[in-house]
Amino acid sequence: MATNPGLFTEWPWKKLGSFKYMLLAPWVAHGWYEVATKGWRNADLGYLAILPSLILRVLHNQAWITASRLQNARGRRQIVRRGIEFDQVDRERNWYTLSILSIASLEDDQIILSGILLYLGALYMPGGQYLPLWRADGAVLIALLHAGPVEFLYYWFHRALHHHFLYTRYHSHHHASIVTEPITLLFSIPLIACALTGTASIIAFEVYVIYIDLMNNMGHCNFELVPNWLFKWFPPLKYLMYTPSYHSLHHTQFRTNYSLFMPFYDYIYNTMDKSSDTLYDNSLKNKEEEVDVVHLTHLTSLQSIYHVRPGFAEFASKPYVSKWYMRMMWPFSWLSMVLTWAYGSSFIVERNVMKKIRMQSWAITRYSFHYGLDWEKEAINDLIEKAICEADKSGAKVVSLGLLNQANTLNKSGDLYLLKYPKLRARLVDGTSLAAAVVVNSIPQGTDQVIIAGNISKVARVVAQALCKNNVKVIMTNKQDYHLLKPEMPETVADNLLFSKTGTAKVWLTGDGLDAAQQFRAQKGTQFIPYSQFPPRMLRKDSCSYSTTPAMIVPKTLQNVHSCENWLPRRVMSAWRIAGILHALEGWTEHECGDKVLDMEKVWSAAIMHGFCPVAQD
Ligand SMILES: [Zn+2]
Ligand SMILES: [Zn+2]
Repeated sequence: MATNPGLFTEWPWKKLGSFKYMLLAPWVAHGWYEVATKGWRNADLGYLAILPSLILRVLHNQAWITASRLQNARGRRQIVRRGIEFDQVDRERNWYTLSILSIASLEDDQIILSGILLYLGALYMPGGQYLPLWRADGAVLIALLHAGPVEFLYYWFHRALHHHFLYTRYHSHHHASIVTEPITLLFSIPLIACALTGTASIIAFEVYVIYIDLMNNMGHCNFELVPNWLFKWFPPLKYLMYTPSYHSLHHTQFRTNYSLFMPFYDYIYNTMDKSSDTLYDNSLKNKEEEVDVVHLTHLTSLQSIYHVRPGFAEFASKPYVSKWYMRMMWPFSWLSMVLTWAYGSSFIVERNVMKKIRMQSWAITRYSFHYGLDWEKEAINDLIEKAICEADKSGAKVVSLGLLNQANTLNKSGDLYLLKYPKLRARLVDGTSLAAAVVVNSIPQGTDQVIIAGNISKVARVVAQALCKNNVKVIMTNKQDYHLLKPEMPETVADNLLFSKTGTAKVWLTGDGLDAAQQFRAQKGTQFIPYSQFPPRMLRKDSCSYSTTPAMIVPKTLQNVHSCENWLPRRVMSAWRIAGILHALEGWTEHECGDKVLDMEKVWSAAIMHGFCPVAQD
């Protein structure tokens, strides 16, 4: 928001929330009515083209946002390197935030406004009706009017806006977001002139709108993408088209590079930043950032695609919950599933840093349900293998296997890859010891018996052993699992492992496969503590409580955290992810995968020592 908002800096339809899109409904309905009564042949095509053009703008902007965030996560050709935290996503929304997070809702407001203006223009402006598909004279007029008056007026208005009085009232908006400014009305000059001279055409209008969005997004994407050869091949282009690094200098220096999209006014009035060319060259040379820890995760539900950081910043900044309107987006969800499936490689979703340890989260492009399909197993293992090799090659010291990437049925907690690559430099970590430690430490003090319900995993085994050693009775509800676990117990404490279907313990440790009937067998006031990667469906509202999946609060020293890890609250990370970070911080040399488990006590105290905190019970 502007530091000192002037008049008209808030959208008049702000109170409508998501219903703001309905503002366009009367015109859309009117268009359909025209088609229904007059038929396609006689309907006004220019009028009908407004809606698809607006939808195209939304998609175009989203494509830039996603591309920008993916690229910025990798760091290649990045212009400004800077981390952001949650409070910036919520409040500040400055340019850095914008370029890395791009607040899509603001852009939507701009698009709604332009939609309303276009509809009004198409109805009431002389020359705005029944536009032909194409007219060359109108297109030339738009280009000239843009390069002339629009760029010129923008330049001088922009310089004036940097005057303190106006800046605090209006322009800090531009430096907060690129769109919510009255100044953007300048773009209507060429369009109105075309309509009034009767030279307007549908294609020319559409191309101009795409040009504006393209240049706007490009200027704020925070990575340099204009290739060098373009300027060598056509030198005057330097004056006709800005580059992302050129405009980024306006945001970092404030008193230079005022131009809209064409830098020649900066050259004429000598406000061009002297470091423009060097920054451009250096940005092009910026390499991918090095990495110490790679956490391998994957997509979860179909709708989770909107929650990954490159999707929508605001969703990603809150714990994931499935929303009805996201389910309505199923065509896009399916499309993105097909696209990610075909992409066939992992992608970087997040980048963090802690005490010189640089970490990245990479997502395997498969959803949870894929992991349960037999015929997908090989492909998934190949993807994970490829990611591990890539991480190893780029110098990562640790690769942690998140969610189902360590499933026993898939790769035996990562053992498969070690057998294949015994000389792997990166340490493979499945995080069992820390996950188990979190579960054991979430059990209230004084508890003398617990029930284990759900499928027995590696974590469950370690938890059961630790509890038996602490003289806590561990009651198992599944006879088969009980017989499986019993021989693994040290003889001296084996008596603490019991089998009973009617146990009355008030603490339940739950894993995958816990069914509803089992949950309802628990006593009132039972505390459910999951040891699984995924949370159970929370069915009992009657004074029962549910803990999060094994996770800890991360210390302040862990930076650039501005999205939530799946369903976990802000600044809470899964134990499996933290395990990899600890492994690198401590420089531990052994792998933790297959049957290998690190010393639980050692891992837990290292976590506490580095400032990770247990998640409080509610
Ligand atoms: Zn400015
Ligand atoms: Zn800008």
